[in-house]
Amino acid sequence: METIRRRMIRFLSERECSVRELSQYLGIREKDVFEHLQHIGCTVAARKWKLKVVPAKCLECSFTFGDRKRFTRPGRCPRCKGEHVADPRYIILEPEKEIKTD
Ligand SMILES: [Zn+2]
Repeated sequence: METIRRRMIRFLSERECSVRELSQYLGIREKDVFEHLQHIGCTVAARKWKLKVVPAKCLECSFTFGDRKRFTRPGRCPRCKGEHVADPRYIILEPEKEIKTD
């Protein structure tokens, strides 16, 4: 478990990617990726890092889904009912390297 999460953290701190890509990279089910992501959100927050969610977007009308707290994939667009919705993407942002001192 720890190893997978470590790999995920390293992977996500280098690039933005979707759950599908993570699932392929790690060789685990997407359902499990979602679960790990929730834990990773806490882990990185403890380090003052940030797990940024790039919201899902409708490819038909460009509707952008809100910054969803839950790590799930939206089914269809609430505006045009289209089913071509780009997956949300995730990336880990490190804090500024320069730390201000008083
Ligand atoms: Zn739409």
